Amino acid sequence: MFQGRYFKYENFRMGTNMQDQIIFLSPSETRRLRAFEKRYREAARNIIRERVEHYHPLTGGNYNSITIRDQKSRWGSCSSRGTLSFNYRLIFAPPDVLDYVVVHELCHLTHMNHSKDFWRMVESIMPDYRVHKKWLKEHGGELSPVLRMQELGIPLKLD
Ligand SMILES: [Zn+2]
Repeated sequence: MFQGRYFKYENFRMGTNMQDQIIFLSPSETRRLRAFEKRYREAARNIIRERVEHYHPLTGGNYNSITIRDQKSRWGSCSSRGTLSFNYRLIFAPPDVLDYVVVHELCHLTHMNHSKDFWRMVESIMPDYRVHKKWLKEHGGELSPVLRMQELGIPLKLD
């Protein structure tokens, strides 16, 4: 019996393209995609850590740890305990957009809300943050390993 599974790829939730892709992947194709994701997740961990360390002297505040996730609907979050979480898919975004999310979450260490003071702080560090915020809103849904594989000319299906 053929062992395969449906892989529902909900990567378009975060953008304006509200559509889900449903792809049938064989076990070996699933493993391949997972390996691809793992590589990018590790790269995201390194780059995001580096960018947090770069911006932290500018924002101040205390954080305890950085976690990298694959959230369906969030690019980042900051808990009251000082855990910064980031979506690994930011690795597929332009570097300035990734930086914007890093600055945004770091500013939450000081302002745990989206008050005027919060946005003033973001702007003081990244004067053109609005451009990146808008980009993420419009193109966030395009940040996926499946689309990256397509861009790189790597077929998702092996047959
Ligand atoms: Zn926020």
